[in-house]
Amino acid sequence: MTDYKALLKSLIKAYRRKIGNDPEIQRFDTLCKEGKVSFEDAYNFAKKAGFTMSDTIMKMFVERFDDGEVPGEAIDEVIPTLLKEQHATVFAGIKAVQEVMNRKAGIGMKSAVIPLDDKKVKEVTTHFKEAGFNVDTERVATDLARMLVDKTIAKNAEIQSGSGLKLTVTRIYDGIGIDHGKTSCEWCLSRCGEDVPYDKAKAMGMFQRHPGCGCIIETHLSKR
Ligand SMILES: [Zn+2]
Ligand SMILES: [Zn+2]
Repeated sequence: MTDYKALLKSLIKAYRRKIGNDPEIQRFDTLCKEGKVSFEDAYNFAKKAGFTMSDTIMKMFVERFDDGEVPGEAIDEVIPTLLKEQHATVFAGIKAVQEVMNRKAGIGMKSAVIPLDDKKVKEVTTHFKEAGFNVDTERVATDLARMLVDKTIAKNAEIQSGSGLKLTVTRIYDGIGIDHGKTSCEWCLSRCGEDVPYDKAKAMGMFQRHPGCGCIIETHLSKR
């Protein structure tokens, strides 16, 4: 059996370098330090982290194998760790934004921690093994990234609204239809709203997302 550990190491290194050198990410870090970020910035950060991961997978991983046929054991060795790396990157971004928001609202609360979803990792790994890399890697990576932002925002909202803080939710439609040719996505539109109280927002499914959805979800905190 071939050992793919060295390959994996170089992929992680390349991903971190690309993220570290990205001007948008650098700007995001600066804005975080200055306390000037928004939830939208966290989604843009997540999208960038997802694109970069997709790039790393397609350009450096798949192209490593002449015919693009990646052996199953290489996928097993590499993909779960890359997804873990992306998770850590995206979580650091949304955590920073959430904590800026908390400070702005006058509370010193740390962000809730969202662990990596092992079931999802398994699902994606199996997907790559079955479908090869004809799958839309960019879509898979950015969806995972956005969903982690959603989950973090939703978990923090749940904790905060349960601890006597007034919290409202705003969801901004991204203007994209589910299918090509459709002018709008009713599924998303029915989950959009402005300054909706937490309980109602949760019941409306404002924290849910379908594959390819780019809606922006924001929470607004104020002391009761
Ligand atoms: Zn939609
Ligand atoms: Zn949407």
